[in-house]
Amino acid sequence: MNRLFLISLTLTILSGLTAFAAVPVPSLKPGTEVVTTPVRAPGARYFETATPFPVLKPNGVTKSARKPVIVIDPGHGGSDPGAIGVKGTYEKTITTKAANELTERLRKSGRYTVILTRTDDSYVDHDDRLRIARMGQADLFISIHADSAGKTAKGATVYTLADRAKGRQKRIVNNQNWILDVDLSAQSDPVGDILVDLAQRKTETQSDAFAELLISELSGRVDLIGNSHRRAGYYVLLAPDVPAVLLELGYLSNSVDEKRLKTKAYRNKITAGVERAIDAYMAQP
Ligand SMILES: [Zn+2]
Repeated sequence: MNRLFLISLTLTILSGLTAFAAVPVPSLKPGTEVVTTPVRAPGARYFETATPFPVLKPNGVTKSARKPVIVIDPGHGGSDPGAIGVKGTYEKTITTKAANELTERLRKSGRYTVILTRTDDSYVDHDDRLRIARMGQADLFISIHADSAGKTAKGATVYTLADRAKGRQKRIVNNQNWILDVDLSAQSDPVGDILVDLAQRKTETQSDAFAELLISELSGRVDLIGNSHRRAGYYVLLAPDVPAVLLELGYLSNSVDEKRLKTKAYRNKITAGVERAIDAYMAQP
């Protein structure tokens, strides 16, 4: 290939990307109505190729006018019980309760549109949990779990995505043909994975900010493990354009944690902290 051809090829790709990134975003109010004609979510920040999955139906509300969308993800479910406590408590039971209580709290506030990745005791694939977050144009994704380790570990932990998982994040974007809505105008080098890089950087900052707010809201009110903001490569944290945390409520392998996580009073302390953290996060400029 000669040099001229390479330059013209680069320009063609560049103009194609710019044109694609500039596709006007129609209005959408997620969480209100679900239709089952997929392929491309009208108004979504991204486009997917023929993936048969419910798409939110637009109803004329602009994105800036809509309420922030919080996607709550109760870990495990159905045939997957998750961790099993000292006294036999299933993780999925605790995560379902906490997620439902958090959802009720957030809906009652009237400030948010809340989408649950599952509403009953069913198994939802990790892929689908991610897709629900992206399809719902989530402003924040919170996955709820309860941990298991030795008998002594106890307290809550907040996870955000580890750097080492970023390659995996790019592969998912490519494999699933996710198109990210990222402003290319400020970018001089559109080659390679730049779209993902840009989205990743922004999302990482936002996820970290929320994790820190969450820890400060929980701190002193519920038991937190030392070094409570940790990083891991959990699949549900992999959407490069959805700020996400995974909250481990406590350790089911610890009898104190297991006992208190079964009480609504203790879960209330946690979900109240999550709500305050969401309020603080959304109030940020
Ligand atoms: Zn879990």
